Amino acid sequence: MTKILVINAGSSSLKYQLYDMTDESVLAKGRVERIGMDASIIVHEPTGREDLRYVEEILDHTAAVRVVLQKLTDPKYGVIESIEDIDAVGHRIVHGGEKLTKSMLINDEVKQEIKRLFDLAPLHNPAHLMGIEAMEANLPNVPQSVVFDTAFHSTMPPMCYMYPIPKVLYKKHMVRRYGFHGTSHQYVSEQAAKFLNKPLESLKIITCHIGNGASVTAIKDGKSFDTSMGMTPLEGLMMGTRSGDLDPAIVPYTMVKEELTVNEVNSMLNKHSGLMAISGLSSDMREITDNMDTDPNAKLAFDMFEYRLRKYIGSYAAALNGVDVIVFTAGIGENSVILRERVCENLTYLGVKLDPERNAVRSGEDRRISADDSKVEVLVIPTNEELMIARDTYRLVQELQPETV
Ligand code: AMP
Repeated sequence: MTKILVINAGSSSLKYQLYDMTDESVLAKGRVERIGMDASIIVHEPTGREDLRYVEEILDHTAAVRVVLQKLTDPKYGVIESIEDIDAVGHRIVHGGEKLTKSMLINDEVKQEIKRLFDLAPLHNPAHLMGIEAMEANLPNVPQSVVFDTAFHSTMPPMCYMYPIPKVLYKKHMVRRYGFHGTSHQYVSEQAAKFLNKPLESLKIITCHIGNGASVTAIKDGKSFDTSMGMTPLEGLMMGTRSGDLDPAIVPYTMVKEELTVNEVNSMLNKHSGLMAISGLSSDMREITDNMDTDPNAKLAFDMFEYRLRKYIGSYAAALNGVDVIVFTAGIGENSVILRERVCENLTYLGVKLDPERNAVRSGEDRRISADDSKVEVLVIPTNEELMIARDTYRLVQELQPETV
């Protein structure tokens, strides 16, 4: 019982990683992109073997799963002999709502609840369910689990998750803060405690997951206390193409002035805002930082991004009544030396002192970037959501096993 396949199904993509849990090593990973379009792209990267990349027409998620299983068992590119070697499958699910607050094995009730939440996560949950059903069709006898992005945040108190709007919207339509990237925030906070060799429960931690999507979480007693994303992943920080926080009155005002439909305004805020809108150049932080010395729009985009992140860190230090550890993770958090430098040089009032040399080191490992005399530990911890999903799935299937004497 050691081989766990982790699946992240999107509306037209399916990403996978196969783990051997005896040593948590990745046996193979890959993705199928453009599912249902004319030229689907298949990328398969088996550890220690030649990578494979080709184009083929793949009609739906069931066909995509068939291709993945074929590649995993292929004589040349495979890493297992037969699909029977796969002991369990773990799925990443973005929205678990109020009921699905921990990782669990899939049954009909769980699938129904994921379906009920389609309205809250229209871009994600329908795709995840397609992934689950495609797996069930291909591997009917293999246990499957679901791991939710929202689950880690289920410990938030009502003071943090309620919005100050009529309560009937919460009761009737589930309008409240849920938070996302939970698997990542949990993973990096646990890693931070291990790195510092201190009990997780003893630390006030602010975790900054700064990728194309970005969120900050305030963690105390090892639990999420507050987080910047809300009912949907649109709230909070400025992101690659998402606006993050704004005056809610801007929405109806813009709809009237520009004669926008609900879908159009949603698309504007999710796909055409953030770094992309302000820079007019790109949603990619690398392009922004590469150009900000010469392009005033790129500079404004960077300055706003950094300022909004710093304001959240400050507000969460207030929420926690202090902070012991700040963690940076995800694409930008792990890689952007300049962003970390700018954020931290304005947090000296908290006792943050960055070590510029440590900050400039590029490595894929957990590391401290604060100076030895900094009052707050500042760490870079590469996130690993897939490993968390594999671990949870492994634990759940082990609990299924009859006790051995
Ligand atoms: P993620 O969503 O976690 O995969 O992060 C993706 C984002 O990370 C990209 O949009 C880039 O802006 C950013 N990124 C990746 N590498 C770098 C880098 N070396 N410097 C700055 N940003 C980076």
